[in-house]
Amino acid sequence: MKTSVLLLGLLLSGYAQGDSVVYICDSGHAKRYHLRDDCRGLHNCTHHIVKISLGEAKRSGRTLCDFDGK
Ligand SMILES: [Zn+2]
Repeated sequence: MKTSVLLLGLLLSGYAQGDSVVYICDSGHAKRYHLRDDCRGLHNCTHHIVKISLGEAKRSGRTLCDFDGK
C-alpha cells in the first residue's frame, strides 16, 4: 500500500500549494489549458468547459493556450 500513500501525499501537497485553477475544453482531443473561461481559444469548444487545477492540467500533458500566453 506504499504506492497509494505516496500518491495521496502528492495530491495533498498539490492542494496545499494552492494550485491555480485553469479551464479546459472537455473534448478528449484538446491539448491546451486556458487561464480564463472566456479565452478566445475556448470559443471553438463545442464540449463542456471544465475547471481543473494547473497541476492536473500539466500532468495530463496539456500546455498553455497561445492566446493566454500573450
Ligand atoms: Zn486560451
